[in-house]
Formats: sequence, C-alpha cells, structure tokens
Amino acid sequence: MSAAQAQDFAALRARMVAEVEAMYAETRFETGVAAMSPAVRAAIAKVERHRLVPPEQVALAYRNHPLPIGSGQTISQPYIVAISTDLIAPVAGHTVLEVGTGSGYQAAVLAEIVGRVYTIEIVEALGKRAAARLAELGYRNVEVRIGDGYAGWPEKAPFDGIVVTAAAPRVPPALLEQLRPGGRMVIPLGAEGAIQYLVVITRRADGGYDERRVLPVRFVPLVPGR
Ligand code: SAH
Repeated sequence: MSAAQAQDFAALRARMVAEVEAMYAETRFETGVAAMSPAVRAAIAKVERHRLVPPEQVALAYRNHPLPIGSGQTISQPYIVAISTDLIAPVAGHTVLEVGTGSGYQAAVLAEIVGRVYTIEIVEALGKRAAARLAELGYRNVEVRIGDGYAGWPEKAPFDGIVVTAAAPRVPPALLEQLRPGGRMVIPLGAEGAIQYLVVITRRADGGYDERRVLPVRFVPLVPGR
C-alpha cells in the first residue's frame, strides 16, 4: 500500500470515529452510556478495519454500516462494536471472551484495550482467515478457536467480560457460568425473526445476575453447534 492510500484510510477512519461518536450522543438515553470512552475511541481510531474485512469490502470498510463477510455472515456496524465494548467496561488487566469471531474486527478492538482475548468461531473458514489476519496485524494477545460458542471456553474461564456477536433466544448457561463475579456480558437476545435487544448482564458478587436491555438490534443468529 502506498503512503497516500494509508493516509486515505486514516482519514476515513477518523470520519468513522466521528460518526460513531455522534451515534453515542443520539442513543445516550437508551444506552445509559454518556459518551464513548477514551479507550474505545483510541481502539477504533487505530484498528485497521480495511485489513480485516474481505477484499471486496475494503472500499466500504470505514462506513458506519454492517458488512457481509462471506459464509452468509455479516459484521456489525462500528457503532455496535464500540458500544458493546464500552458496555463490558474493559480495562487493561481483563481477560475477555468473544463468541462469533467473524472478521476479527471486534476481537482486535478488544485486544487494543484488554490483556487477553479468546474468541470462538463456528465457521472454520472464517475463523482461520480471522486468525491469520489478526496475526498479520500483530495481535499476539488474541487466540481464535474453531468451535461452538454455546459452550464457551471453560479452560480459560472465568472471564471479566464476554461479548456475544450473534443473537440467541436465551443466554447460553455455560457463558453465564464462565463470567467472573462483577463481570459483564453483552449479548443480543431474541428469537429468530423476533425483535432482538442488546442486553447487558452483570454477575453480582452474591452469584445473582442483573440484566438490562440496551438497544433494539439486528444480528445474525448464533447457530447451535453439532
Ligand atoms: N464479531 C464479528 C462479527 C460476528 S458475525 C466481527 O467483528 O467481525 C457473527 C459470527 O458468529 C459469524 O461469523 C458466525 O459464523 C458466528 N457464529 C454463529 N454461531 C456461532 C456459534 N455457535 N459459535 C461460534 N460462532 C458462531
């Protein structure tokens, strides 16, 4: 890539950040999030989204829109990635699980902020591609596993945060169990064809869970494995 092209992408990325910021402002009463955190802002300003989306989507990489990534899958608009990240309140020492690696973009955004990211993808071709791209981009703190995210990743649990990026009719019990007390999970909940809501679940210190609906959303379904 030429220096001029790199500069173009940087300019498009800056515009995307501004658009995401404006959307935070529009939705702040629904989400209860007043503004994008500096950590998330820095992460989305840095991650080279154009190197994670499929080649035919490069020109659209910095639009604040969902994009097709092949295998019938779609990645969320940057705003949803940003707000999902903010909703788990990530900090540097955290270990986070993502379900639905897709392009690897959400994993990269998380990896800019937290210590370790474990991400599970059920479609082998997508998982392998994302793992290769993330390695090329230098993310050494992300591990991709091909498998069924319903079961979580028990060997690496408990997690300080969990981000589920495909919609489920209800919260997979294994994921609840793998959340550390005080930890937060973001998950789009809703039956197929029904309205979905992005929901934040906080595991309380006493073992109970608090649940809060954040936004109506549209995600591809979490497919049951096996
Ligand atoms: N977070 C991704 C976008 C995810 S789209 C990104 O930033 O690009 C949802 C992804 O979830 C798809 O790639 C889909 O294949 C995957 N998926 C669906 N069901 C799954 C399951 N049971 N376990 C793991 N991944 C699953």
